[in-house]
Amino acid sequence: MDKLAIYGGTPVRKTPIAYGKQYIDEDDVAAVAETLRNGDLTGGPRITELERKLCEVTGAKYAVAVSNGTAALHLAAMAAGFGEGDQVIVSAITFAASANCVLYCGARPVFADIREETYNIDPASIEKLITPHTKGIVAVDFTGQSVEHDAIAAVCEKHDLILIEDAAHAIGTKYKGRSVGSIADMTCFSFHPVKTVTSGEGGAVTTNDEGLYRRLVRLRTHGITRCREEMVHPTDDRWYNEQVELGYNYRLTDIQAALLISQLNKLPAFAARRRQIVEMYDAAFAQMPELVVQKEIPESDTTRHLYILRLNPERLTCDRKQFFDALWAENIHSQVHYLPVYWHSFYEKLGYEKGLCPNAEKYYQEVMSLPLYYTLTDEDVADVIRAVKKIAAHYGKQA
Ligand SMILES: *Cc1c(COP(=O)(O)O)cnc(C)c1O
Repeated sequence: MDKLAIYGGTPVRKTPIAYGKQYIDEDDVAAVAETLRNGDLTGGPRITELERKLCEVTGAKYAVAVSNGTAALHLAAMAAGFGEGDQVIVSAITFAASANCVLYCGARPVFADIREETYNIDPASIEKLITPHTKGIVAVDFTGQSVEHDAIAAVCEKHDLILIEDAAHAIGTKYKGRSVGSIADMTCFSFHPVKTVTSGEGGAVTTNDEGLYRRLVRLRTHGITRCREEMVHPTDDRWYNEQVELGYNYRLTDIQAALLISQLNKLPAFAARRRQIVEMYDAAFAQMPELVVQKEIPESDTTRHLYILRLNPERLTCDRKQFFDALWAENIHSQVHYLPVYWHSFYEKLGYEKGLCPNAEKYYQEVMSLPLYYTLTDEDVADVIRAVKKIAAHYGKQA
């Protein structure tokens, strides 16, 4: 058996690979340069073009480009009307921002458990948490796989809840043939460099509801409107604009929009390559008793953002930390997505206790994310597989 790098053996790779990174080509550079030379830097035609493009990609009626994914979630939570005394049900396994947006509005996040096999929010867990104070749901398309929309929509209908979909992982994904972005009341995207397409920093909210759309646009710019019908004191003065509520400056620049339009043109290629890599990993790991492969619901046609390597503790003598450290020593630089949100010390201080979501807590202790991005070569993928197999062989045990 090959000696593990962590015990002084030769690492599988000479140079490290990260779990994710962006791909920028000359078209992207040219699009940014063109905007810098000729265009408005913010509030200009690239934003309009980007929003049209996002509608095309997601099938949504309206898109509002904003400065990052967290701003998208914040504005969506405000537009949903979440406030003091309200409860909003949130997936336990997600980036903290999915729950923080509820706190920004003065409402309380209530954490729902995940399905054991898909790692997405469990509709049955949502149902159990509903109280007269429940106002909405923030459901996360974790790893890019669509949430179970039919079941969630049934709960929303029954209890009159508003659904915000956190699709930071899921641009390009479809549920029953419908693109993510056109299904929930509002869908939030992130265009951080680690995500499938990037604008450096960036985000968007999509919706089919004109009222929500108008509210989102206004909140993006301080709550200021130039629309007479929205004013308390409408006038014909051409300079006049009116702040009618408290909003923010969450605008994206045209420079970023130009980059993102160019990136979105490559989304089909990005999605196809990600799919190939996922298939290579799945094929390599499916028959290994030391590992568990993430299940997909048949309704989801997934553009995968993360590849989760899950350990089977029954068949390994090591824990997740040992496996993770061994993988790093082989120069595969993994990450863990995510700590259950309520395990963060800030949430602990708010009174959330351990044990709320058993599937999420067990999941967290068994996982790490493998490299998954467009420019990963077949040799890179083979290295990752070799490293995982090497470590699993070292720590493997019979049932
Ligand atoms: C990245 C991410 C966000 C936040 O997006 P930013 O653009 O970094 O603000 C929110 N939710 C999830 C699930 C994410 O992965």
